[in-house]
Amino acid sequence: MDLPVEQWKAYARRKWASLDPGLQERLSLALPLGDTFLLCLPLFQPADEECLHSLAASNCVGKDPRAALFYKEEGNKRFQKKEYTAALILYSKAVSHNSPEMSLCYANRSAALFHLGQFEDCLEDIDRAQAQGYPDRLQPKILLRKIECLLLLGRLQEAAGVISKVESKITMDQSLTSTTHQILLRKISQLKVKAHEKENSLVSVPEALTKTQKDLEFWEENGKMSSASSSVSLNFNSCRGRHLVATKDILPGENLVKEEAFVSVLSPGKSLLLQDSAETTWDTRVTNGDLHCHRCLKQLLASVPCGGCSYAKYCSKKCAQLAWEHYHSTECPLGALLLTLGVFSHVALRTVLVAGFAEVSSLVKQFHGDDKELHKTEARGKSLDETRDSTAGMEGLSEKAEPLIPGCEDDGQYRSSYQAVFNLLTHAEKHSPEHKFLCSLSVVAICKKLREADLTILSQGSCESQSKLKAHVKMSAELSPELKILGEAMLRHMLQLQCNAQAVTAIRESESGDSIVADSEQVRLSTALFPVTSLLNHSCDPNTSVTFSGTAVTVRASQPIPRGQEIFHCYGPHRCRMGAAERQQRLLCQYFFECRCQVCLDELGSDVTGIAATRDIFCCSSCHASMQGEDVLRCSSGACTLLVGRDYLLRQLWNLQLQVKTALELLKDNQPNQAVELLMRCRMDAENFLSAEHMLVGEIEDHLAQGYATLGKWQEAARHLQCSIQIVEAHHGPSSVETGHELFKLAQILFNGFAVSEALCTIQRAETVLSVHCGPQNAQVQELQEMRACLLELPRSLLHRVE
Ligand SMILES: [Zn+2]
Ligand SMILES: [Zn+2]
Ligand SMILES: [Zn+2]
Ligand SMILES: [Zn+2]
Repeated sequence: MDLPVEQWKAYARRKWASLDPGLQERLSLALPLGDTFLLCLPLFQPADEECLHSLAASNCVGKDPRAALFYKEEGNKRFQKKEYTAALILYSKAVSHNSPEMSLCYANRSAALFHLGQFEDCLEDIDRAQAQGYPDRLQPKILLRKIECLLLLGRLQEAAGVISKVESKITMDQSLTSTTHQILLRKISQLKVKAHEKENSLVSVPEALTKTQKDLEFWEENGKMSSASSSVSLNFNSCRGRHLVATKDILPGENLVKEEAFVSVLSPGKSLLLQDSAETTWDTRVTNGDLHCHRCLKQLLASVPCGGCSYAKYCSKKCAQLAWEHYHSTECPLGALLLTLGVFSHVALRTVLVAGFAEVSSLVKQFHGDDKELHKTEARGKSLDETRDSTAGMEGLSEKAEPLIPGCEDDGQYRSSYQAVFNLLTHAEKHSPEHKFLCSLSVVAICKKLREADLTILSQGSCESQSKLKAHVKMSAELSPELKILGEAMLRHMLQLQCNAQAVTAIRESESGDSIVADSEQVRLSTALFPVTSLLNHSCDPNTSVTFSGTAVTVRASQPIPRGQEIFHCYGPHRCRMGAAERQQRLLCQYFFECRCQVCLDELGSDVTGIAATRDIFCCSSCHASMQGEDVLRCSSGACTLLVGRDYLLRQLWNLQLQVKTALELLKDNQPNQAVELLMRCRMDAENFLSAEHMLVGEIEDHLAQGYATLGKWQEAARHLQCSIQIVEAHHGPSSVETGHELFKLAQILFNGFAVSEALCTIQRAETVLSVHCGPQNAQVQELQEMRACLLELPRSLLHRVE
């Protein structure tokens, strides 16, 4: 998903196939990356540029006043229907295009924010509307909103100031009809009363609310490795490469790595179409790009658009400014091209921009020097393989008497820096030649585009004068030596990303229906590089959990880790999600290694079947025993002779999945009765051919719980959720984060249903599990604590209420 768009991939494949066989052979060799880049450079022809240009044209990232008008109108329609979140997103799309009506767009957005209870952001938008020349005749309207916000925020003095301003404005204004005049004056006097009430109530703000949450998470930073705890150490050997090991006994929940991304690029992700929006000239699709700050990933409310494009949006002026200074001034004119070339290409570019030209150039040159060293060694009679072996994972590092662990700086420290990023493994010799060609061609395309654009940012951090660099760039049709260095570095990063990219995720609570119980899903927000977290090796049964906050990652121990044991993290293929054969295949394909983790050894070496394989099985429709076999399955009970084709069962499964999807849409569409009815039918169907612990049965139970919760039938909801929890526990284990999320939902349901003692008990379990994986500051953990506090304050009589 992070690779270029399909059409460009296909184009590059065709181009590769048409290359001269001699050239193909040379490119297939594991050349130094610099040579690969230089070989591909002249292959990029005007026709290729044209192809990319036409593909990029479908990404509208420019500013268009007509689009602003369209989005404003669409926003107004939503606003009238009281769909304030949708209206907010559409108004944000409107302000990202420049138009003469900017002030009205901001004013309308402030109204949507007001209805959403976001008063601080509402005030910001009111200021923006006024800065953009909000019409004088409409002033009273927006000022009244401002007063209400200020009152609600308890900023009474400011409110009083605005009140007198509006009063004088109204009395001065001759154009107002007497009725409007009357209405405004009445409104003002109402607000004055409110202000007075507020003043009296403010005195008794309960102290309890200002209680600060103490950070209980113990943290002592490692002396030799930034962003890592002192409980781990960085080790290196030829078979495991670099890896982290516990230096003392580690307890579950302990923080092991807390690292800020070196670079992170928002992934547009799948688009969530606004409901019942028709096909129009202007895109009404909503993606991550509309919901999260393009720099810090914070959820957007009153977004600040980039001044140059309609794509980049930020949470604040500060984020917009920092992004512009560090990378976006270079990326802005390349927006449409970067969307076409995919997130990996974008991360590769941003990495060199964030590092700065001086740093990139010095590491590339150092690497070239070392490369020559390597060849000298070879000439001295040592075989290349031998050299490679002893330096496995040591790309870019010269042999020294006291060998440093690769990526460490001269003082022996490993830092979350560009040097560490540069030394992440590329596995250049293991990628397919077609893939390397696609990456090279994409990087060349970026370089050619950079040649046309302003390169001011590249000279940052170095003393080289900008004009010199610019002159270089403009003079020749050829790429400048500087751009060749950047190109080589970008190609390196692009190849590194396949094994080292980390998906930054967040739990997004869907706001479907009126459900009080939030349904949440994990969404991928960005693709990032974390040089310290990248040191962790994979296990299909990891001993850590990873969570994100903005662009920072935290790795916590998810179980006790004895001193001397390696710290593992799962790259994706987890034992609970797939069998050993599938995991092995995926890891080999993407990460180029054969997994030798304990569960893989157990599953592959003996007849032990993995969790994933034993739970998700078909069962006999007449006696419910498990079905066994390959193409034709036979009931495992001796007394029964039932035979069924696997194709038939798979079709049945597929049909059932479709039904469940339909039910989910009904839930989102706020039709819980119909959804529950359909889900009950699904449940009965499932019983006929799926094992009781099948994951799909768990999903059905979970959705049923959500449906009943929406209807306020708490007991039914709790019963179904308990079934779902049993299945999740069977798959993921009772202390897994997955079970934690289910327990959280159950706690919400029991809380809403006033099942006090059960709720308290579930809250305790959920809190224990979730704080190990996500830490005590996690939003769900905090909510659980609030629920407990609330329940404990209930009068005694309620505590013993019988349901
Ligand atoms: Zn931000
Ligand atoms: Zn921009
Ligand atoms: Zn494994
Ligand atoms: Zn049977």
